[in-house]
Amino acid sequence: MIGVSILGSTGSIGVSTLAVLQQQRQQFQVVALSAHHRVDKLYQQCLEWAPLYAVVGNANAAQQLADRFRANGVSTQVLSGEDGLRQIAALPQAQYVMAAIVGAAGLLPTLEAVRAGKRVLLANKEALVLAGRLFMEAVRNYGATLLPIDSEHNAVFQCLPKNYSDGLAQTGVTRILLTGSGGPFRETPLAQLTTASPEQACAHPNWSMGRKISVDSATMMNKGLEAIEAHWLFNAEPEQIQVVVHPQSIIHSLVEYADGSLLAQLSNPDMRVPIAHALAWPKRMTSGVASLDLFQIGRLDFQPPDYTRFPCLKLAFAALQRGGTAAATLNAANEVAVHAFLEERLPFTAIAEVIEHTLERATVQEVTALQTVLDSDHQARQIAFERISALAAEA
Ligand code: NAD
Ligand code: MG
Repeated sequence: MIGVSILGSTGSIGVSTLAVLQQQRQQFQVVALSAHHRVDKLYQQCLEWAPLYAVVGNANAAQQLADRFRANGVSTQVLSGEDGLRQIAALPQAQYVMAAIVGAAGLLPTLEAVRAGKRVLLANKEALVLAGRLFMEAVRNYGATLLPIDSEHNAVFQCLPKNYSDGLAQTGVTRILLTGSGGPFRETPLAQLTTASPEQACAHPNWSMGRKISVDSATMMNKGLEAIEAHWLFNAEPEQIQVVVHPQSIIHSLVEYADGSLLAQLSNPDMRVPIAHALAWPKRMTSGVASLDLFQIGRLDFQPPDYTRFPCLKLAFAALQRGGTAAATLNAANEVAVHAFLEERLPFTAIAEVIEHTLERATVQEVTALQTVLDSDHQARQIAFERISALAAEA
């Protein structure tokens, strides 16, 4: 049996992971689960999976959950906070760790799994955006196996040659083409975007996801974060990464070779496909996803990205070019701005404005230590908070 810890089991990726594992109970054992706020959902998951450990956000919630377990004869041990997350990321009983916490909060626990030499199934793209250099160094130094769950990166990984880490150019790869649907606002008249609501932004045409990544898809910051993610995962130069708008979300990304060949990975848009891929790799197993009906799909369309409509995409490429802590700043400002938008304290179109403002003011440094990255994250959050307050005061 292979032991699996799931960081962020109550989220969209966490739930899809459990759905895949449900079909493979003879092969995998869930050893730990975690939730931030949705303790009821975690409780239900623990009843079903009987993990050794469950982690919640704080000591209070942990005490309540532990009491509930005791009253119902559940033997799962309850831990809390970041210490708890770090503990379940490094458990000797877990060979695999699914990193499915959203945002910068996932960095330290995911890094802990890397340092424990686990197979890390990485959904938490923000961890790489924030600390890509240190993260990839740790993967090498601690002998961890890093497998991308983000559907684009999982597709690229499936299309790359086995020895891609020798260097893309050396192995005949010329470009990585990241596809993106363009989200719910691909064709919305620009004037209407100022008043776009969280519900509209979260109504993705093809994918059902958590709210933060749904807003990132609506601004296409998600594709920008994914370009930075691809840079670190595949050692790709910014010029080697191209974004392709593909509204149907059937081709999940492509790899171009020197001879002009393009290899692509296609499937129905369902995260159980990359999750099953990474759990079974290098083998294959069923994911529970229906086979793709090409006749029903009929056609696949492609467009270049529109940077006027999606200024966040441009900001992300600029941060990638700039290097150092610029990506950490971009990520933190984005998290703060998206959060404010979801709470209806910031208009949709001001998300890009807050990020640009923050990038202009934050200090950019070389990334030499984790503390540098955490300091940049902190500074960017401060600047972004202040900008949002100033904008609210003006409005
Ligand atoms: P979600 O909001 O549905 O779930 C997030 C999970 O993280 C929940 O279990 C929540 O309890 C936990 N969490 C949130 N804040 C936390 C904190 N401060 N400390 C500890 N735990 C916390 O998000 P999601 O859609 O499942 O996305 C998770 C990650 O996967 C994100 O980084 C996202 O970009 C990435 N991703 C998601 C999808 C998708 O289809 N949902 C696709 C590709 C990549
Ligand atoms: Mg993606």
